[in-house]
Amino acid sequence: MSSEAPTPVLRGCIKLPLAEDELLEITAKAKDYALMHGAAMRSKTTFSPDTLNFAPFLLVPSSFPRKEFEKAVALQPIINRLMHNVAHDEEFITTTLAETIKVDEFTANLFNIYRKVLAHGFTQRVSLGMLRSDLMLESDCPELSMKILQQQQQRQQNEDATVAAAAAKDKEEMVAMEAADVKAEICFNQATTKFKPKTKCKDRHANVKQSAYCCWKQVEINTIASGFGHLGPASKTIQSFVLSELGHAEKLKNMPKNNALAGLCDGMVKAWDIYGKPNAVILFIIEDVSYNICDQRFHEFYIRETYPHIKVLRRTLTEVHREGKLGLSKELLLGPHEVAVIYFRAGYEPGHYHSQNEWDARYLMETSLAIKSPSIQYHLAGTKKVQQALAQPSVLERFINDPEEIKAVGKIFTGLYSLDDNDAGNASYEMALRTPEKFVLKPQREGGGNNVYGVDIPDALKRMTRVERSAWILMDLIHPPLTKGYMVRPGGEMPPPIVDMVSELGIFGVVIGDADNIVHNYQAGHMLRTKLSTANEGGVAAGLGALDSPYLIDSDNED
Ligand code: ADP
Ligand code: MG
Repeated sequence: MSSEAPTPVLRGCIKLPLAEDELLEITAKAKDYALMHGAAMRSKTTFSPDTLNFAPFLLVPSSFPRKEFEKAVALQPIINRLMHNVAHDEEFITTTLAETIKVDEFTANLFNIYRKVLAHGFTQRVSLGMLRSDLMLESDCPELSMKILQQQQQRQQNEDATVAAAAAKDKEEMVAMEAADVKAEICFNQATTKFKPKTKCKDRHANVKQSAYCCWKQVEINTIASGFGHLGPASKTIQSFVLSELGHAEKLKNMPKNNALAGLCDGMVKAWDIYGKPNAVILFIIEDVSYNICDQRFHEFYIRETYPHIKVLRRTLTEVHREGKLGLSKELLLGPHEVAVIYFRAGYEPGHYHSQNEWDARYLMETSLAIKSPSIQYHLAGTKKVQQALAQPSVLERFINDPEEIKAVGKIFTGLYSLDDNDAGNASYEMALRTPEKFVLKPQREGGGNNVYGVDIPDALKRMTRVERSAWILMDLIHPPLTKGYMVRPGGEMPPPIVDMVSELGIFGVVIGDADNIVHNYQAGHMLRTKLSTANEGGVAAGLGALDSPYLIDSDNED
């Protein structure tokens, strides 16, 4: 946290701490519940294909502002359309990634496939987008702080006996605000004694408490291997059970329903229908070892249970290279099977491509008739560099027509800065060296563990050449409010201690269409991951985060 003000805390869903006996009993029961409902993973330390550990989870759900949750859900179809349009804008993708691919070999390899596919024409014009927009609450949110300022102002005016006394006090406040040196987007207007938006005024933290009930900013948008379609809903199941066991069944109504698994799998089946061959299969591209196995098998099981005639195959890139070939109409053939839909749960990081063979397999699939999630253009549209380009003024207008939608999407971006070798990029570089604690530095990678945070940024940047910097982007650090709760981990302390945490919400979206038409576009459930407030990243599979689900609250101080 870069802010000097104490981080606000979201009020909890139930009163903590629990009595130790009760906590021990419910934690043991919840672990079993998690295991027996597939909220589980393979162990990385003692791997066996025959055993599972429960996945780390939060005993009770973490609070999340209802209005902000609903806003994120409502916005998802617009974000889906935006990403679909970006993926189909050859000029935008090419220009945006031009500098990056000079230095980032992985993105360059993806881009080469894109270029080759473009040159030969797309065999399959339809793409299946299974997206996840990740976001965090921003307690530094200027709009909400303005409301707090207004409330404080109102209270103050009521208390002051005379207008003169109030004015004197206001003036004092303003002097204090100006003494501090942090940007804010609100300023005091002396003449009207009203607060009005204005750019660049001084530190509101000197006077104003931040709100825990705050707005959110997008962390990133995922277009490949958007996980937790099963673990998202599974977290809700565990926590609903726990709340009921603890005598809080009346609280379940504040946990929004979550149909992520069905939403995503139905998306695959809609694409399978478009492909239109009754015997064709759905292919999952998987890692050599799938630790996050439940979050893939439950998709497969859901499809078989809901659509008994559809088969799912699982293959690594290496296996596709060995077994795959194209038929006469460029259909992808794996032994006796024709593939209708490819769902990539691997292929998003260099480690998944052991040799040219895996790149050849990716190209083979890209040139095939199968409908891909993602197609190569969707994969490239999900790069951090594209996210950074979309956050620049006026860029959204290229992809969205409705001015209200442009405004709504524009608000979700926090500061995102290019580090290209030009004036703007060099200015971002200088800014990062001056105040690194305000930023996170990101390469074009997915899957966690690749970013550089705060004070580590200057050293990382100084090790790069000017040209190498263009493979990275700089982003304002988001400051989510804290929640307090029990994080339950395999082999963790029993009973678990109360810890300070922060959460990241992911909203799933499905979009299917080609360059001219979108035929399906919907929001498809959500997932919440929560990590210790001291951790930079919160990947659950990486061992830092824990499964969670949102408990919707209506204000900072209700109940
Ligand atoms: P990846 O593609 O590796 O998942 P992300 O951009 O999602 O990369 O970053 C990984 C994690 O780092 C996020 O899940 C979040 O916990 C943290 N993070 C990323 N960007 C920010 C940010 N701007 N402010 C605060 N935390 C961030
Ligand atoms: Mg991420």
